Amino acid sequence: MNSWRMKLRFWGVRGSTPTPLAQNLGYGGNTSCLEIRLPNDDLFIFDAGTGIRDLGLNLNENSADTARDIHLFLTHYHWDHIQGIPFFGPLYSPNCSITFYASCYACALQESLEGQMVTPYFPITMDLAASKRNYVNLGGETITLGDLTVEPFQLNHPQGAGGYRIESKGAVIVYATDREHGHEKLDAVMREYAQDADVLIHDAQYTVEEYPRYKGYGHSTWEEAVNVAQECNVKQLILFHHDPRHDDEAVSATEANARARFPNTVGAREGSVIFV
Ligand SMILES: [Zn+2]
Ligand SMILES: [Zn+2]
Repeated sequence: MNSWRMKLRFWGVRGSTPTPLAQNLGYGGNTSCLEIRLPNDDLFIFDAGTGIRDLGLNLNENSADTARDIHLFLTHYHWDHIQGIPFFGPLYSPNCSITFYASCYACALQESLEGQMVTPYFPITMDLAASKRNYVNLGGETITLGDLTVEPFQLNHPQGAGGYRIESKGAVIVYATDREHGHEKLDAVMREYAQDADVLIHDAQYTVEEYPRYKGYGHSTWEEAVNVAQECNVKQLILFHHDPRHDDEAVSATEANARARFPNTVGAREGSVIFV
């Protein structure tokens, strides 16, 4: 019997735009994409930034994975959360069934995804891809898929975004990227959904010093991430959505600042795996 309930893997941790530069590769240059596996091998993906391409290649190497159901949850449709979809191999596999999920806190799901695969942006339209596809708008409702329960909640972000509280057999991962603090009602919503999480993956794009310049851009400081973790009895904090201008040295410095206040903190790293 497995002693873990969810296996979390980071395929993309960068915010805003990919940054495949040598000085960034310690943490990684691909944009947002997480994989969650259950002990029974059920596969759930959260966000489809450029990291999802490599996730797809990895699935193809494992024949058991080529004929499977993929559940893909989107937080919102800014480029850095969807631009890997046209390069996600399983999209073109007749053996794959992909169900896309989104909350009511961002724009229309199907239209937003199909809209990036049209002339003149991409040569293949979504309807020509060989996979089976379904679209599920969760509204604000919780969904249970086998042993996984996913609960969406609203984030303060330009054009809207939704976070997810993800639970399996009592283990909890909260995914809250692309949120800015300073919105009284939604700051309280964030704290309600982060309560007692085993792992909180939180937007930490800016340093405290940088933040005033970028107020209104829709992102948090590492300090806000720490505040949520402390106030909500979180066990481990993962700083996420690294700013494209922050090289490895800068992200390490942010990580050290956050650890001084909340010791069980790490900066999200592409390729790293956490068992909950
Ligand atoms: Zn983003
Ligand atoms: Zn965004």
